[in-house]
Amino acid sequence: MKVTYLDLKTGLTTTETGISAYCLMEGNWSCDCNRALAFGNDNLSKHICDGAKRYIVIDVEQEKMRRLKSGAKVYSLQLKKEIIIKSANEEYFLNLRGLNEEA
Ligand SMILES: [Zn+2]
Repeated sequence: MKVTYLDLKTGLTTTETGISAYCLMEGNWSCDCNRALAFGNDNLSKHICDGAKRYIVIDVEQEKMRRLKSGAKVYSLQLKKEIIIKSANEEYFLNLRGLNEEA
């Protein structure tokens, strides 16, 4: 799917295509490591997870389904956009709330 990210640090947005709902919600795109690449920031070389603090998902759009494994295809098609966005940002909101509690 086509994903739009917001960088909470700079206020910039960018889009990335070809990301499955599963990857965004639970896979390698559920934290800042791969989302940073969409902004041209490569943090993967550190080999340490950056966590979920900076790049939230603000929009997703289904692309024409390519040939995915049947399970992944069903998973993507059955979920509503709002559910995917909420799930993709879940860790981020927990972290932000944590920061607010410290303030
Ligand atoms: Zn990570």
